[in-house]
Amino acid sequence: MTNESQLRADIVEVGRRMYARGYTASNDGNISVRLGSDRLLMTPKSVCKGFMTPDMMCITDLDGRKLQGDRDPSSEMLMHLEVYRQRSDVQAVVHAHPPIATGFAVAGIPLDRAVLAEVLTTLGSIPIAEYATPSTRELPEAVRKYIKAYDGMLLANHGALTVGGDLYGAYYKMETIEHFAKISLVARLLGRENLIAREEVDRLQGLRGTYGIKAPAPICADPADALALLQAGDPALCQVVQAPEGGGQRLIPDDVALETGSAAPKPSAEAGEIRLTYRELSALIEDAIRSLR
Ligand SMILES: [Zn+2]
Repeated sequence: MTNESQLRADIVEVGRRMYARGYTASNDGNISVRLGSDRLLMTPKSVCKGFMTPDMMCITDLDGRKLQGDRDPSSEMLMHLEVYRQRSDVQAVVHAHPPIATGFAVAGIPLDRAVLAEVLTTLGSIPIAEYATPSTRELPEAVRKYIKAYDGMLLANHGALTVGGDLYGAYYKMETIEHFAKISLVARLLGRENLIAREEVDRLQGLRGTYGIKAPAPICADPADALALLQAGDPALCQVVQAPEGGGQRLIPDDVALETGSAAPKPSAEAGEIRLTYRELSALIEDAIRSLR
């Protein structure tokens, strides 16, 4: 199978999974991948993502001119083109309307709290790009503000957008966002959301290097740092995460060597502390890494 026919098949498969998981209804959503250095392979306008065939895809250039295909390219093509323009590292873009994450986007609540280690190490946080009329030039402008620092974002009153170094990487980030949204919703319904302390967020960020996780920008858990970047005129330079100053509380105690992973953390009686053994944490992170591959 050639690279192009493999990518056509991959788009069909990702569309099928998105539809099966309820991330899209009817003809919602769109998917694109880079085809070499100067072309894109993209889902067409007005088809259900659950029932696509490889021959339906369009090939366009990086300015959106159709080069091949019986159908017209996706109505959200401008948003895809903007992402590829801003991020030379991105190979694939996925857009869908997963209902729980989109609920947060409708409520205007970003998924930016330090709650789950695997989300912090992979996506950092998920901001909300300001509302823009779908399929117009307003939408790429709203996305442009965040795409340099984030691999995933909510689109206000619309849906979610994820990008990746390959198509499955971009798709799995969509799964992570919807999963994170579900967990956040349940925790908030239960009336309690214990946040991971700022020091621990910094430590988890260090694991990105250890596990070779690529992120477009560092996490910024200190509001003073985020404010300084904002005042410097470029809010896109860090992934803003809400995390409390924890007085040195950690999920992993200092005396557990990352290399061995054998020692269990000492129990702490401090109220409100989230406790995970190193094994539990590394299993979470390994899952996240697997999902990125
Ligand atoms: Zn949409």
